[in-house]
Amino acid sequence: MIGYDEALALIRAQCARLPCERIGAARALGRVLASAIDSGEDLPPFANSAMDGFALRVGSSPLGAGMQWDVIGASAAGDAQAHAGDGAWEIMTGACLPEGMDSVIPVEQIEVLARDADGRPARIALRAEVLPGQHVRRRGEDVARGARVIDAGTCLAAEHLAVLASLGVAEVEVIRRPRVALLNTGRELVDDPCQVLAPGQIRNSNGPLLAARLRAAGADLVAQQVVGDDAHAFVTALDEVLASSVDLVLSTGAVSMGRHDFIPDVLRAQGAQILFHKVRIRPGKPLLFAQLAGGALFFGLPGNPVSSVVGLRFFVEPALRVLLGMAQERALRVRLANSAGKPVALRRHLKARLHCDAQGQLTAQVLGGQESFKLAPLLQANAWVVIDEDAGEVAPGALVRIYGLGHLQSAGLEGWEA
Ligand code: AMP
Ligand code: MG
Repeated sequence: MIGYDEALALIRAQCARLPCERIGAARALGRVLASAIDSGEDLPPFANSAMDGFALRVGSSPLGAGMQWDVIGASAAGDAQAHAGDGAWEIMTGACLPEGMDSVIPVEQIEVLARDADGRPARIALRAEVLPGQHVRRRGEDVARGARVIDAGTCLAAEHLAVLASLGVAEVEVIRRPRVALLNTGRELVDDPCQVLAPGQIRNSNGPLLAARLRAAGADLVAQQVVGDDAHAFVTALDEVLASSVDLVLSTGAVSMGRHDFIPDVLRAQGAQILFHKVRIRPGKPLLFAQLAGGALFFGLPGNPVSSVVGLRFFVEPALRVLLGMAQERALRVRLANSAGKPVALRRHLKARLHCDAQGQLTAQVLGGQESFKLAPLLQANAWVVIDEDAGEVAPGALVRIYGLGHLQSAGLEGWEA
């Protein structure tokens, strides 16, 4: 049986970045950038006022409080640049700084000495010193033209869309979403929530759990089916989903040692190359990874709900990252609040909750109910704690590696409490 690192290396070696496509930048939320974005424009595009106030020509040394100026014009956001002469220029936040002016005094720091017929300030006195360049947003101060703003391999968030919009980027090149099919095996499974359970039946929880996790991980779930423990039906379902040209097929169940665990034999009979079956991990040891005859990759995840979601999080998501052209994930290190339980010679993935106390101490609490059939503790979890297979006893206070619930979700950034 292989260890996790070896399994991950085998997975990464089978995956390659998918082709890219051009899409409108406004529709690119959650998509992964295929090529870096260098700014074609300055942001701000012109020097403008950071305050409502009066623009002045200050030069290199401060203007003293008490000085008086005639007001020779006014600009608001949206006006073209004015050509001011000597004097003060009334200016609103975001308005272009008049040519030759370099500083702004806020309206709260002047006294209006005289007003024109329309009531607008005509002469002002400075009630505070004015420093050279103050309250001016310089051209290109936020993003300089030519600067690298977003690296390739970045998953675009709302903030990236704001920067792209600010820089006038209409389209971006992104990686095509990985196309994934999900087959949940088990003759005991009932998919319809309204159906009354017959003796021995259970409801399909892996279906919705993995489907939602896959979407959150950047995949395009193109097919999803429940299949009984029948090799023939499984092959039919597999052929069906492969017809919709998928990159990955995921199955749950039927990969362990039971009499109905037909997946390894069926795959072999279909000409698949099994790259590994069983990994030194808990939960989810019987995990299988194969390449199908047509080239698609296949992950056989064990049926227990937590085993299947661990398989998705720590095997399928790293594969998705390669397909998406993203760098390998790195764990955070956080101190354990409680014991990680009995040592075993397996890499463990533990449902955990990060707490940040009033002193700012961040700790990870290993939750009760680590059995792989227990779904309810996942509702308290906001992170995974990973314990190496050779770790021995991991006591409270020890540093452990933590991962978010999904590769695009930072550990613990949701569900924190004070
Ligand atoms: P298996 O890996 O097929 O032996 O299944 C292991 C355990 O997980 C059994 O108790 C199954 O009933 C359960 N199980 C399998 N598939 C699912 C599913 N889709 N939803 C919930 N439980 C499941
Ligand atoms: Mg089964």
